[in-house]
Amino acid sequence: MGRDRIGIMGGTFDPVHSGHIQLAAYARESAKLDRVLLVPDGVAPHKLILTDKEDRWRMLEIACCQEKGIEPCRIALDREGVSYPHETIAMLEEAYPKADFFYIIGADAMMHLSHWRSLDYLLKKCTFLVAPRASSGEGTSREALKAFLEERRHLTEMGAHIQTIDMPLTDISSTLIRAVLAKGEEPRLLPPVVAEYCGVLGLYGQTARIPQGRVWMERLHADLTVKRFSHTLAVAYTARNLARNHHVDVYKAEAAALLHDCAKCLPLSEMQKICHDNALTPDALTFSSGNLLHSIAGSYLARSLYGVEDPDILRAIYCHTTGKVGMTALDMVVYLADKIEPTRAPYPTLSKVRMLAPLSLQRALLVSMEGTQAYVRHGNHPLHPQTERTIQWLRTLPENKRDEPRKAKSTSNDKGGSL
Ligand code: ATP
Ligand code: MG
Repeated sequence: MGRDRIGIMGGTFDPVHSGHIQLAAYARESAKLDRVLLVPDGVAPHKLILTDKEDRWRMLEIACCQEKGIEPCRIALDREGVSYPHETIAMLEEAYPKADFFYIIGADAMMHLSHWRSLDYLLKKCTFLVAPRASSGEGTSREALKAFLEERRHLTEMGAHIQTIDMPLTDISSTLIRAVLAKGEEPRLLPPVVAEYCGVLGLYGQTARIPQGRVWMERLHADLTVKRFSHTLAVAYTARNLARNHHVDVYKAEAAALLHDCAKCLPLSEMQKICHDNALTPDALTFSSGNLLHSIAGSYLARSLYGVEDPDILRAIYCHTTGKVGMTALDMVVYLADKIEPTRAPYPTLSKVRMLAPLSLQRALLVSMEGTQAYVRHGNHPLHPQTERTIQWLRTLPENKRDEPRKAKSTSNDKGGSL
């Protein structure tokens, strides 16, 4: 077996943005790396970091969890004192004795390389992969980066292996993102899940959108897998936008979306115990399936554990799996946001439901539920009668009567995307 090729990208990630992910992805591709580790500093050598390290870590986790071969690594975060790259490399060498290391940096960071501690050691241990960076003065274009490296030939003479990464310039930085967020605006090139995390908690000078956000985030992060936590934030992001579009209460939509899957990672037996102990009496089909029962257990936990009293929010959580005859616009927003959030794996009706959702909740919901019906039938599974009835009801609504009769295609993976 060949040696593992591991990319390392240090930084403060305050917060992580799409430029970081793009750099990691290009480096991985161009240097044929097995994986790239994003290594946030605990204490940065030359910068003051204001954001709590666990918040920076979670934002990294959720930004990376959809990316193949890009992983966050806590090694510097958990070390006492200043996070020096040579110490990170030394620890990684111990953890991966059979690996070759590639240190990935933008041209801005490269400019300061001669000030780095134990540079000789680093240059010996790693190949440097340098990316052009729009905001880095000298190192802007590819040609300028070449000239810039030429001027630093002494590094190569010191034994450095330096390669450039050919990637498009992305004019984005955490500094810029912090400034835009502080103005209460939505920055571009910030992954939606990260934007949602910042907005709920009011990071970077924003006003926290959810007053109990800190407690909710801690609990959700503890109770859900990283993928589920990321999905939850993506649903909340989408629900807010859909709610705004359809003049639905934005706070209720965001709160219901944040809690819609709060019970999803419990074992089925625990969901059943919650129902049993609290005199909740779902039908037999729902009781036997975690995929269905988590909405009922979740609605219960939203009240008992997260302190939600609002019946609209609790109902939206309750009916987000099977639907319900007479669903309100809020219920539909949460149901649909779950189906179309931006990190969903593709499924046959996804683009159609995504296209319809901002236009008509009723039409989007009907297409979405018919897709589920087709998927379930194809797999010879029972469709919950509540969903069957909701489809019938949706067909009677004026918005849907305008449509030509549709025939839902039977497909093998039309279940709303897997997580
Ligand atoms: P800040 O503005 O707070 O300095 P940043 O956006 O520069 O944040 P860092 O965490 O300092 O992010 O950077 C980590 C690494 O990612 C550095 O090597 C940096 O050069 C590189 N990097 C960050 N953004 C980009 C980008 N848009 N294009 C290329 N490289 C980037
Ligand atoms: Mg920087």
